[in-house]
Amino acid sequence: MLIDFHTHTSASDGELLPAALMARAVNRDVRALAITDHDTLEGLKSAASNVPKSLQLVSGVELSCLWGGVNIHIVGLGFDMTAPAMTALVARQGAAREQRAHKIAQRLEQAGFQGAYDGVVALASGAELGRPHFARWLVKQGFVDSETRAFDRYLGRGKLGDVKTFWPALSDVVAELTSAGGVAILAHPLHYSMTRMKLRALCTDFAEAGGSAIEIASGRQTQDEIAKLTRLALDFGLHASVGSDFHRPWQHGPDLGVSTTLARGVPGVWEIVL
Ligand code: MN
Ligand code: MN
Ligand code: MN
Repeated sequence: MLIDFHTHTSASDGELLPAALMARAVNRDVRALAITDHDTLEGLKSAASNVPKSLQLVSGVELSCLWGGVNIHIVGLGFDMTAPAMTALVARQGAAREQRAHKIAQRLEQAGFQGAYDGVVALASGAELGRPHFARWLVKQGFVDSETRAFDRYLGRGKLGDVKTFWPALSDVVAELTSAGGVAILAHPLHYSMTRMKLRALCTDFAEAGGSAIEIASGRQTQDEIAKLTRLALDFGLHASVGSDFHRPWQHGPDLGVSTTLARGVPGVWEIVL
């Protein structure tokens, strides 16, 4: 069975409107889809009113938080999107994201890129602001020739636009998400460039905080990486989740739909939320 538990729409830094994302999922024979925009439920809410018959939509969100000074992403699934605890959590995440966007803009403006904040707001057209919007703005203004270059020079880890101070602690985010009825999943565990020891410490704390699963495939893992992540799930008693982390149709990037058969010997998070 093909499912996809990690996708983005134009409500955050994805390109497709929620309806177009769902239509694409149906075309690709995806049975269950979670829209997991960064720190907002707006895409999910607009999708929920018009779900195609052959598709099961699972409530989702991707929440930013901090652990040991590292910006970690937690995918939340299966919550009641109208639960007050969930609304409060997402509102706080959105406020942190907004403060962070101001700080990034301020730093860029101090570095000589005038009008960064207004420019990014105009370009994002109502979406939750993230670094990809700043990257697009820097390209559009002709300051850099590609979004990759924008991250390498100004926005990536350790650069001036890498602002982390506003994110809450991982343990708080996981606790609030689970108290709102959601399932917490550690997103793309190999993207944090951690040593094996540190990644295991993260999994320990994540499981202790109430986390349920880790992503064993988030778009373009090799067999080796999937095996490593499966091992990690088994060692910490966590379920497996799969998702493409789809942001836009792109020939070099993953498209919608990941096979649940990738989770060999580990219970799938779909057994909880479907
Ligand atoms: Mn993103
Ligand atoms: Mn992420
Ligand atoms: Mn993502």
